[in-house]
Amino acid sequence: MKPAFTDLIGNQRLKERLCDDICSDRFGHAYILEGPAGFGKHSFALRIAAALACRHRAEDGYPLPCGECPACRKILSGNSPDVITVGRGDKATLGVDAIRAMHVDVLIAPNDQEDKVYIIEDAQTMTVQAQNAFLLILEEPPAYVRFLLLTDGSAPLLETVRSRAQTQRIEPVPEEELAEWLVRTEPAAKILRNGNPAEFGELIAAAGGSVGRAKDLLDPKKRRSILDERETARAFAELAASHRGSAAVVSFLADFGQKRDEAISRLSATLSCVRDLLLLKQTENAPLCFFHDREEACNLAYRFTSPELLRYAGGISEAIESLRRNANLRLTLVQFAMQTGLLPR
Ligand SMILES: [Zn+2]
Repeated sequence: MKPAFTDLIGNQRLKERLCDDICSDRFGHAYILEGPAGFGKHSFALRIAAALACRHRAEDGYPLPCGECPACRKILSGNSPDVITVGRGDKATLGVDAIRAMHVDVLIAPNDQEDKVYIIEDAQTMTVQAQNAFLLILEEPPAYVRFLLLTDGSAPLLETVRSRAQTQRIEPVPEEELAEWLVRTEPAAKILRNGNPAEFGELIAAAGGSVGRAKDLLDPKKRRSILDERETARAFAELAASHRGSAAVVSFLADFGQKRDEAISRLSATLSCVRDLLLLKQTENAPLCFFHDREEACNLAYRFTSPELLRYAGGISEAIESLRRNANLRLTLVQFAMQTGLLPR
């Protein structure tokens, strides 16, 4: 097997599958690339387009795409007229007009490559009307057309659209691989890891396997708010585990986020922390998304019972929902503390 998509990290199985489809000329007309924001969907899509056009595609000794031939260079620098990105711009949805424009464009043969690749961003925001218009092209596309639908979840797509495309999931990059890559490619990451390894570890854990998020968090300002959220989550767990009484709970609540969005983010981090602890009560090998230090998580989980953690998880979810529905911030937090038994009723 050729080395493939070598400048992207993680997702080895997906890379091999795509490379196999491309090299054996079995690449389909439509693929759905599914994964959360920051997981590198657009980078993947551009590299797929380059791989399809790469002049060294069938030759040994070159990765796929090679990144050096004129076709690769043109596509990877975003300058190929045969790779077209369709997006919603600053609108909430991807409407039928954009799809109709694409419909006209699809009929024009490619300029200088064999394939014409359409990268459809935020495909989950396509209106039903847009999806029905898209189906008209998807049912019988010209032989040279490839659609890459990028989405953070394909559920809003019509079954008729999904059934005509292959869905490929982009997985989070394992923490160690992400850390190693970040240090190798970003000088700021190397400085942080050497100067403050604990904070670097927090950054990697907070990135949740997302390359985009990890890079974002190298910015100290962005990192600060995430670290604050994670600190709040840990403080909550410590408070709940130590049963320190009402005064400590009231002071904790007073220090909670002052704004609604901030409070929701902190509660979400806390939920993710509680979720890890709950999973650890079931099995010590559970995959963790909040903690990067399994020992720290296990020691904390040991101090709770499963019903306690379930009660906290339920209470936090309810509080998040209430705040999203515009409930009063202070009242919601007090209610949460009383419902979960942190404060006496
Ligand atoms: Zn090439």
